[in-house]
Amino acid sequence: MNKRKSLWLLQVLFLALIALVVMVHVPAQAAEPGAATEATRQSNVAVLHDLPFSDKQDFADAARGLVAPAPAAVIRNPEGLIVWDMNPYQFLNGDASLETINPSLRRQATLNNFHGLFKVADRIYQVRGYDLANMGIVVGDTGYIVIDPLTSVDTSRAALELVYAHLGKKPIMAVIHSHSHADHWAGIKGVVSAEDVKGGKVKIIAPAGFMEEAISENIYAGNAMIRRSQYMYGPFLQRGPRGQVDAGLGKSVPLTLSTSLIHPTDTVVKTGQEMIVDGTKIAFQMTPGTEAPSNMNFHFPQLRALFMADNCVATLHNLLTPRGAQVRNAKTWSGFIHEAIDRFGETSDVVFAGHTWPRWGKENIINYLRKQADVYKYIHDQTLRLANHGYTMTEIAEELRLPDTLAREWFNRGYYATVGWNAKAVYQHYLGWYDGNPANFNPLPSVEASRKYVEFMGGADQVLTKAKASFDKGEYRWVAQVVNHVVFADPENQAAQLLQADTLEQLGYQSESAVFRNFYLFGAQELRQGVKKPFAKIPPALDVYQALTLDMIFDSMAVRLNGPRAAGKSITINWHFTDTNELYVLSLENSVLNHTAGKQAKNADCSVKLSRELFNKVINGQTTFLARILLRQISYEGSIGKLSELMSMLDEFDLWFNIVTP
Ligand SMILES: [Zn+2]
Repeated sequence: MNKRKSLWLLQVLFLALIALVVMVHVPAQAAEPGAATEATRQSNVAVLHDLPFSDKQDFADAARGLVAPAPAAVIRNPEGLIVWDMNPYQFLNGDASLETINPSLRRQATLNNFHGLFKVADRIYQVRGYDLANMGIVVGDTGYIVIDPLTSVDTSRAALELVYAHLGKKPIMAVIHSHSHADHWAGIKGVVSAEDVKGGKVKIIAPAGFMEEAISENIYAGNAMIRRSQYMYGPFLQRGPRGQVDAGLGKSVPLTLSTSLIHPTDTVVKTGQEMIVDGTKIAFQMTPGTEAPSNMNFHFPQLRALFMADNCVATLHNLLTPRGAQVRNAKTWSGFIHEAIDRFGETSDVVFAGHTWPRWGKENIINYLRKQADVYKYIHDQTLRLANHGYTMTEIAEELRLPDTLAREWFNRGYYATVGWNAKAVYQHYLGWYDGNPANFNPLPSVEASRKYVEFMGGADQVLTKAKASFDKGEYRWVAQVVNHVVFADPENQAAQLLQADTLEQLGYQSESAVFRNFYLFGAQELRQGVKKPFAKIPPALDVYQALTLDMIFDSMAVRLNGPRAAGKSITINWHFTDTNELYVLSLENSVLNHTAGKQAKNADCSVKLSRELFNKVINGQTTFLARILLRQISYEGSIGKLSELMSMLDEFDLWFNIVTP
């Protein structure tokens, strides 16, 4: 080889080496989700052959009774920000094959695309596709009754405007909250004002325990739940074939949440209770401990219509929500659906709900309610049968299959939960997370265990080489499990993060569950792009703080107390709330905050007098104790420094904590 030729070869080799280094360390379009692999394509094609896609009844029902579509399908808040937009979902409606979406999920996502004002029955309407939930409208003798005013003041206001534009402007006579979840109450001030409720113009009707459950579910573990909700609903994912397409129950959650809450004026306490509201008779069925702790179904006997809250919707619902909440009782849930069939089945021509579309015709209704009741009962009973045979939680989730009579009903498909996920929830409800095997009593935490695993497996490079081979075979569940160890052992390992992102994407593309898809794809996005922080934490609305009891506020302060920092400290504060005339003692001892109502301590370090209203604002972060002391709105005796010291030991939680990386 002559000198010039060898130089040329060296140059080529050098360039190839650079190219290789660039390819390994900065893969092309690393920030973008990948295409469907052949394994994913085949998995999704198989779904097309497995399920009864020729059954189009749901499309007829979702379109039935359309009065008017949403004018522009975009909802803005008063500042002009887009909080809801249906336009980016239109790609789902065509016939083009989309290899990156499970066809069963695509079907559900297309059905959830129907949006606008729909007639459900004589004098009953629904606004759908304006939020995650539906808003119901019943035309009374003189005005409207609103059922479940959505998640945000902006979306519920827009929904009411649509109603006014097509059914005429009339006063709101009552609002009914079917249950305690925020997507059914937080938009209330978009349809009525607190003054109108106070003045007696509007009734707010809710099931017993509503207020307590509405505010308590998100208080103590709120920060963790909100962060996990971003994964569950995917509001920060791009809409598109490789992004967010649906949330199972509806499209997603509104982007900026302007929330509100008004204390109910009328409480439903027992099944069989009836009310006549603006000439419309309503018969209630209490269903506590089903989809929500405070919950009810109701029937309109004159209109032959049954409202099933979120207890029956066009998907298998969650027995345990992946955003995190207390586990739900499948047996109770099933039992109350059977009771609804007994009470209202014969006298209903239509059944409608807090999400998805209605169903008409007695035979259809009974079949639907019956099979939804039985899907929860089946999962409940069969999980316990297998548990009693000695199967563990993950084994049961893998084993459990619905019988065809339940599985082939579209409304029982797992768009929100999955059968395996719900089996784990039943196991958790009865037996907890522990499987009884002492090897699992005290495992090492993720980072420590991952370092050991990777070391035992011959180091990161070897694990990634093997994992890539498994990826090429389409073994994505395994790859996600094993590469997670490499990511947690070394958060600087970019190749591991990218392989993990590739893997989670394929799992997302294959998921029938919109919720699982969102979790997978948002996990992949954070692996590719890091944790983005589009806004700081939004504190709950002042309405929510006003509705909290002082016990709840002091309890949530106790959750924020940094135990190790409080070690050895002893502080006692007396509180006197002047407007509500309530007394409290708050004491720090043993790194624990305790409170007692109706008392003042003799030996308190500090005694504080202020209004409850002002206290709410301080706890909500709108002002500080010190600022209001300077303004003489708070008076005190003793050492105010002790109150400051106590407040300085309360942690602030970062909303954007890591999930897919250590
Ligand atoms: Zn809901």
